[in-house]
Amino acid sequence: MKRRQTILILGGGFAGVEVARELEKLLSPDEAILQLVSRGNFVLFTPMLHEIAASDLDISTIANPIRKMIRRTEFIVADVENIDTDNKSVKVVHGFERRSHSLTYDHLVLALGSVPNFHGMAGLQERALTMKSLEDAILLRNRMIAHLEEADPTYSEASRNGLLTIVVAGGGFAGVETVAGIHDFMQSAIRSYSNLQPLHIRVVLVHAGAHLLPELGEQLGSYTEKKLRERGIEVLTQRRLKSITDEGVTLDDGMFIRTSFVVWAAGNSPSPVVAGLPFANRGGRIDTNLMLQVELKEGVWALGDCASIPDGNGGFHPPTAQHALRQARTAARNIVASIRGGALNPYSFRTIGQLAAIGRRTGVGQLFGRRFSGFIAWWMWRTIYLSKLPGLEKRLRVVLDWTLDLVFAKDTVQYTSFRPFSQSTPSSPFHDPEQPPHDAEMDRPTPIGFGLGGSTIWKAEPIEDTPKSL
Ligand SMILES: Cc1cc2nc3c(=O)[nH]c(=O)nc-3n(C[C@H](O)[C@H](O)[C@H](O)COP(=O)(O)OP(=O)(O)OC[C@H]3O[C@@H](n4cnc5c(N)ncnc54)[C@H](O)[C@@H]3O)c2cc1C
Repeated sequence: MKRRQTILILGGGFAGVEVARELEKLLSPDEAILQLVSRGNFVLFTPMLHEIAASDLDISTIANPIRKMIRRTEFIVADVENIDTDNKSVKVVHGFERRSHSLTYDHLVLALGSVPNFHGMAGLQERALTMKSLEDAILLRNRMIAHLEEADPTYSEASRNGLLTIVVAGGGFAGVETVAGIHDFMQSAIRSYSNLQPLHIRVVLVHAGAHLLPELGEQLGSYTEKKLRERGIEVLTQRRLKSITDEGVTLDDGMFIRTSFVVWAAGNSPSPVVAGLPFANRGGRIDTNLMLQVELKEGVWALGDCASIPDGNGGFHPPTAQHALRQARTAARNIVASIRGGALNPYSFRTIGQLAAIGRRTGVGQLFGRRFSGFIAWWMWRTIYLSKLPGLEKRLRVVLDWTLDLVFAKDTVQYTSFRPFSQSTPSSPFHDPEQPPHDAEMDRPTPIGFGLGGSTIWKAEPIEDTPKSL
């Protein structure tokens, strides 16, 4: 009788959750205990992230609760702090009191994804917004509204230019989709501000390469650039951000752009926990063999954005969700084979295609070697990604939001009914002296992110009779 194996999966993104789901299908509860650790309790459907920022979709439509996606995997919301492959243990920290726990494993799956890479530029991380997480998209949307509110009053006339200049760095998929979403949102939202005109808005895209969307080739890159320019977006290619201050950004050709609104979408690096491992490669990723095993580390597997996975032709697979999901299925099957003593199979998959939505019902993309652009590419983008979005309920919500978006103007409500802990609640005039004293610590709201200028955003306190959709 074989001992039950413990399979510990780190990271609840595309790769990690799919490994858990596949293992649930392939292994019986007598064969393995499955554990999944992740920082958040949902899987984020990143391809539609810019639609949250642009107010096309409601904030929870593209986030799927992990607990609804798995059946018998034990799911722990925690931060992975340390991985010790010599002792086969992982230190995680969780809960309000940040308690530490050690989890042991027989098989370890590293699927911790990536984080924005600020390339060590002083002040960039503190000042720029990023487009990686749901919080990022919510902050970006809120920030656009905050700048419109700030710029509208007549007494703001002098500072209007800087307030309504938005610089996006990075001309890859995330940067282009974000800049298009920002432009569409600002142009639509500005109609609600009586002192502001569309010409007050300046949106600049800075890209280090010669062509936007380099993965799609020069032709589609040039088409994208033309479309963005036609709408008034300034596209600066072969230029990089050199420095950033509170006043603005300076590019490497000396050009200064006065702005307090910068979005950084110019590169990612692997999760710092992974990058800090002694066996991470120079780029901070984990090298695997074709079977997704980490060689010389018994029982360790790596996949998704945090791994360098050879494509068998001298290169590496790109860090996309398309690959992460398929790598997850291969990794799960190979883990099962190694537990049962079967043969392992190599991961092999060629990218089917890539599509980008570039605003105003226009898209670009390549599918099965064919190029598409314009409305048809945008329609394909929507249809294909909608079909990939996990969960019928979420798909229906997205369709509903898209339909409403056709008819109504952008919603400019700021999601900031947040109350910092320092602003204590006034005590009730009807205080009951029989009741124990109010314990402020216990009522402390939970921080959910960081607001403008780095101030902490706190989770709104529940209000009775608040409609569910809020
Ligand atoms: C804006 C944007 C648009 C994109 N569009 C596309 C697209 O159109 N098509 C496509 O194929 N790909 C797209 N991608 C890429 C795709 O999102 C990634 O390749 C994919 O998410 C990688 O999956 P993963 O599981 O490796 O990492 P992730 O999905 O990032 O998951 C990693 C998980 O690990 C968790 N985690 C990280 N560190 C810790 C820690 N220390 N402790 C606990 N948990 C931790 C994270 O919270 C996260 O849940 C896009 C990415 C972005 C940012």
